[in-house]
Amino acid sequence: MRVDFHCHIEPKPDGTLITPAEFLKAMDDAGIDKAVVLGVDHGETGYARPWSRRVQGPVYGHGWVAAETLFPGPSDLDDDTVAAFARSAPDRLIGFASVHPDRYRPDLKVRRAVDELGLRGVKLYPHAGFYPNDPRLTRMYEACVELRIPVAIHCGIKAVRWQHLKYNDPTYVDDVATDFPDLQVVMLHGGYPWVEQFIVVAYSNPNVWVDLTFLDRIALVFNQPDLVRYTVSQLVRLIGSERLLWGTEGPYLSLPMFGSQTPKDYAASIDRLVRQFDFLTGKDKENILGGNAVRLLGLA
Ligand SMILES: [Zn+2]
Repeated sequence: MRVDFHCHIEPKPDGTLITPAEFLKAMDDAGIDKAVVLGVDHGETGYARPWSRRVQGPVYGHGWVAAETLFPGPSDLDDDTVAAFARSAPDRLIGFASVHPDRYRPDLKVRRAVDELGLRGVKLYPHAGFYPNDPRLTRMYEACVELRIPVAIHCGIKAVRWQHLKYNDPTYVDDVATDFPDLQVVMLHGGYPWVEQFIVVAYSNPNVWVDLTFLDRIALVFNQPDLVRYTVSQLVRLIGSERLLWGTEGPYLSLPMFGSQTPKDYAASIDRLVRQFDFLTGKDKENILGGNAVRLLGLA
């Protein structure tokens, strides 16, 4: 079974969000059976600064442009919207909640998302202004252990200029994985530029899973032709293939530094992140492309 572990409900070029029907059509065309759809909560520090919605700083070196040009749709995606999207195809779409520690009682927000909305995991965006080991998240992590749902944590490069890179250092995920040994933690995107820390955290904590999503694009933007091969081969050598997860960011992608992605090249990362590597066995590839996500999420 092919499971895309990392999707967003992205805006299309006309600014409207992709619909469930369009999303499922893209999955069918790409041969993807199930997909995880991630919520987004940046608190007040996300893609649009709350006190200035008209003109926004862009991603890295693109000059100052209108926010609508960069992010034509909403940058946050609340739990209810994700749940409604996932409910439209409950056998194929798995929704994740998102939370920021500035929120009132993050643990209650997550409990509601799971108990009332049927979401099945949590996504955190530390570059929105917090370390993963923020004590305000302790009760939330405890709730996730109790609810038996994984927490996926963005690691490595930041998305936009005014976010702070330091929060994305995977070293801080080690605190979470160590202090909550029964919590399943997923570190996202391969951790660049902290590749070694990322690998050490994965190696040191058997409850840490690794998502390779976007690593191919990061390698292109930062001119690191060996990054994907190095990261994947080191991880497989050190922790095996059973905790590695493949994902795509979804059928549309609207970050200008990475170019635009359409349903046509939706599944190209299957080859770039997994299928091209001769050091992976057929079984390894099956694990990474879906089998591991089935186990993590109990999808069997
Ligand atoms: Zn993502």
